[in-house]
Formats: sequence, C-alpha cells, structure tokens
Amino acid sequence: MDAMDTTGARDMMPSDGGIRLVAFDGDDTLWRSQDYFDRAQEDYERIVGAYVDLADARVLERLYDIEKTNLAWFGYGVKGMTLSMIEAAVAITGQRISAADVHRIVQLAKDLLRHPVELLPGIREAVEAIAAEHEVVLITKGDLFHQEAKVRDSGLAGLFHRIEIVSEKDDPTYARLLEEFGIAPAQFVMVGNSLRSDIAPVLRLGGWGVHMPYHTTWSHEREADVAAFAARMRVSEDPRGLPAAVAAIAAEAARLAASAAA
Ligand SMILES: [Mg+2]
Repeated sequence: MDAMDTTGARDMMPSDGGIRLVAFDGDDTLWRSQDYFDRAQEDYERIVGAYVDLADARVLERLYDIEKTNLAWFGYGVKGMTLSMIEAAVAITGQRISAADVHRIVQLAKDLLRHPVELLPGIREAVEAIAAEHEVVLITKGDLFHQEAKVRDSGLAGLFHRIEIVSEKDDPTYARLLEEFGIAPAQFVMVGNSLRSDIAPVLRLGGWGVHMPYHTTWSHEREADVAAFAARMRVSEDPRGLPAAVAAIAAEAARLAASAAA
C-alpha cells in the first residue's frame, strides 16, 4: 500500500456522532478508465481475430478466465492485463501469433498508460461540496505507478486528506484502512462505481455506500450481491447527485447514533 498524506497531520473534523469520513474510488468514479480498457480490448480482438474466429464465444471466455486467474499473480491494472492478453493470444492462436502482433499488444498497453486523465463531468464540484462537510479520502487500486500518475494529473489530490493506493479492495483491506483512520465502519461512507470493490465489502463491514454506476463496467467488478445490505446503500446516477446522497446517509447515520446513545 502507498499512502500519500496530502494535508499533513490534520485532525478529523468534529462530528455529530454520524459520518466522519467519506472515501472516493478513482477509476470510473473520479475519472474515466474502463472506456480506454474497452477500446484496448476491441483492438486486441482485431489482432487475435486475424488468427481465430471470434464468433466462437469460447475464445473470449478463455481470455477472461486467464485474466481472472492472473489477478492473483499480477494484480489489477494495465500491466497485468497486458500479460494476460499475451498469454491468451498465445493459447488462443495455438502459438501461431507473430512477434509483430505480440508487439502490437504491448503497444496497446503503452497507449493505455499514456491516455490523459479525463474527469467525469461535475465530479470536482461534487467532491468539493462533500469535502466542505466531511473529511474525504481517495482509495484506489491498480498499478501503483499508473495510479500515482492519474492522481497527480487529475488536479484533485489537494482535496483529499489521504490517498491510499491498494492492491485489492476487499473486506480485510477496508478493515485495515478503517483501523488506521481510527474510524468505525458505521462512521464511514464509500463512493464508487464498482459494487464488488467499492460497495459490497464496506456494507459487509457495517459501513455505508453510494453506488454511482458507470456506463461500462468490467464483468469482474459486477460480481457482487448487496441486496442484504440495501438499507445502507444509496444510488447516484451521476456526480451531481453525490452530495445529496452523502447528506442523506449522514442524516440517517446521525439519527441511528443518537438513538443508540439514548
Ligand atoms: Mg472504479
């Protein structure tokens, strides 16, 4: 994990017994990401499609299987995806893929790492509005080097009390971060586009979530069931709805804290 303390040892804001910390995901919550991966995937299919029939569903299933298995080896991000693409291309083509085409796949990765950071419309205003009411932090996963560059180029780093770049966003990671922050799960809201990585683990720990769906999501990040915890989740269709969703949660959390104290 890499922690970048952007504001020094500033104390957490006083609270009304409700929410004390709001965390934001990075990719597809603050800035566009999956669109670029989708485009790389299309280019990849054009390269591999010269060797095999992509109408055969098993071909792309094989790539997804390799990507999922390789997460345990390479982690998330462009570099792991690229190695998986190369491994799958070798397997799918029966080792017929040319060195020139392998080189093209590596170029796809470099293009992905070079793309400019494009903020979602209205997200800066939304983060500013929420930061005026609560401490805010950024929790993102992926290649450390790439994520650091995106945080820097986003121009948003100064808004966040802390920036955490983690290798996986699961229950143990959030539990460890909350312990480091000195925050109980019931005082914590996570805002993000991925049910699997941003919302479900936090709800399972007893925290709150604001799900902001993105128009395209990697299949892996859609695998989550949050129905049992729906009372502690709100949905915002776009960044403009985020301050109201967080305010609704803060009011509900304060009410629960007050009735528990009574
Ligand atoms: Mg995301």
